Amino acid sequence: MREPKTMAGILVLLVLIVCCLVYVFKIAALYPKVQEEIHMTPSPTPVYGNTMIVTPDPAAPTTVPILKNGSKGINVTQLQTRLAELGYLTGQIDGVFGNGTEAALIAFQSQNGLTADGIAGEATFSILYSDAAKAYTEVTQAPSPVPTLVPTQTPTPEPTPTPDVRTRGYVVDGMPILVNKSHLLPDTYEPYELVELNSYCPASVVKIKYTDMWAEKEAVDALLSLLEAGIAQGEGNWQISAAYRTVAQQQTLFDRQVNSYIKNNGLSRSKAISATRKTVADPGTSEHHLGLAFDITIPGKTFGSTSQAKWLAENCWDYGFILRYTEEKQQITGFLAEPWHFRYVGTEHSRIMHEENLCLEEYLEAYGNITFEDE
Ligand SMILES: [Zn+2]
Repeated sequence: MREPKTMAGILVLLVLIVCCLVYVFKIAALYPKVQEEIHMTPSPTPVYGNTMIVTPDPAAPTTVPILKNGSKGINVTQLQTRLAELGYLTGQIDGVFGNGTEAALIAFQSQNGLTADGIAGEATFSILYSDAAKAYTEVTQAPSPVPTLVPTQTPTPEPTPTPDVRTRGYVVDGMPILVNKSHLLPDTYEPYELVELNSYCPASVVKIKYTDMWAEKEAVDALLSLLEAGIAQGEGNWQISAAYRTVAQQQTLFDRQVNSYIKNNGLSRSKAISATRKTVADPGTSEHHLGLAFDITIPGKTFGSTSQAKWLAENCWDYGFILRYTEEKQQITGFLAEPWHFRYVGTEHSRIMHEENLCLEEYLEAYGNITFEDE
């Protein structure tokens, strides 16, 4: 006979073994269920290249236009809708960017740490359509008896270093003003002394293509000397096709080209805008606003292929002009070559730029401080 103690020990051991077996079978029975769950759960696929995928807000416009007082259209409607959503705009959503929209935009910009210039560009849109956009909060000073959502007094925009508007296209340090896709000229820029080209320019020197064309007097005088020198050397038949353009005129030109691409080439709106940007400056980014740029043409001819174009490119710098957009500098200027577009900068600058083969962007980087800040 075994000891009863040993028997009890064996019994306990047996019970333990049975328990373990039952447990193992239970787990085994769960296995197919687990497999099924694994198959039903989609496993994340690794992303190579871009580690961050940003889902754009569907309400955000697909292209980033520059909208400002005077702009019109669907983009303005979207902008107004969003400003109304956030409480900045209480007026009508009519697709027309007027003073009310501008005031609302300035309020939005100043409450969201943006430059409060009333111009909606990339920086503004990136916050406007994001979750980070702050809704309108009334600037509390004295409680106003009539609560209005849009402040009647628009906050004064931060002082930005703007060029002296009365200095004929030069900034304070005497360097030529840069106007390009990232250096916009303020809407408030005013030329110094415009002259009407039809009445000012002798028809024996140059034909003026349209009526009511204006440009800065100093630049027109220099241009007339240049073209007269051309005539003396056998190069004539000059024509001015474009000179000073206001922002409103730039907008009209831009819209006309976009609509033409949509109508005549069947492009979508965003494709039409991209195509237009290759040849027409976004409103506010055109040198023509300075009154110092001219498009010179020869009636009935493709200017780039004429002997006059060659002569002008070779001699313009001696009269204070530069051929602003060349094929060589396309990457820097951001514009396709325009053999007809000449910008007046004054001989003190044009001579150096010619000698050192610098476009305006390169020249200002080398010799001046670009006083406009990049956005
Ligand atoms: Zn031009």
